[in-house]
Amino acid sequence: MWKCICPVDYFDRSLNVTFTTSPLSVLCEMSLAELLKMLGLGAVAVALGLEGLDWLLTRRLWPRRVSRQPLKEVLFFPSPPACVEHLYNPGSRHPCLCPLPHGLNTPFSRLLEHLLSVCVSLDLCLFNFSNAELSRAVLLLHSQGVRVRVLVDRDYMATTGSQIGVLRKAGICVRHEQGFVMLMHHKFALLDGKKLITGSLNWTLTAVQRNKENVIVTEEPELVRPYEDEFNKLWEANDPTKHPAQTHSGNNTKGLLAPARDE
Ligand SMILES: [Zn+2]
Repeated sequence: MWKCICPVDYFDRSLNVTFTTSPLSVLCEMSLAELLKMLGLGAVAVALGLEGLDWLLTRRLWPRRVSRQPLKEVLFFPSPPACVEHLYNPGSRHPCLCPLPHGLNTPFSRLLEHLLSVCVSLDLCLFNFSNAELSRAVLLLHSQGVRVRVLVDRDYMATTGSQIGVLRKAGICVRHEQGFVMLMHHKFALLDGKKLITGSLNWTLTAVQRNKENVIVTEEPELVRPYEDEFNKLWEANDPTKHPAQTHSGNNTKGLLAPARDE
């Protein structure tokens, strides 16, 4: 039993007696273990109180204080071949039997994940689009009601393996540049008008699996907005109804300086 000496006396009116102990002595009469237990409980109560106060201030009164930072992600290619079926069927209980490695988080699977997250609109401004897996994702989004717009290079949309014909056949709106620029060399995508994917990566199998490429994925409004403006400007400028009919032979129409191959 741990005791302390309390110099405080108190007077009991009912008995008309002065005691040398006071109500404070109750505390003093406690064992050390009891005192520590009480102090511990007090500390827990204070901590919970502070936590509750913080929650109230940050979540209820000033919710903007806890707004999350805009997404900023960098992906480097080439990406190792890996199965991505789980991204198309996230709830499937049937294991995929394809020969590719499974369960890998690769730069390409991250890119595809971002693409498949689109709910409302997808704007693509691409030089070369021949990657069948990315085309499959775009077709899926289109079938789900996502508004898809594709702007491409006039010559490369007709190269072997280009997915542009497949997209057009599915009813996706595709435009190519109508002017006399050498190349429409952009490689960017706008997802729901809020997320930007841009970098050196052409949407081809070679670029994804063999080339040294970089891609930035961001939701930073100061970066997304100019790309959105640029896309809308190019989309309007290349409206085929505003240009005289052009015939397309499938050959390179921009002269001898245009490269024959760019993946
Ligand atoms: Zn598989």
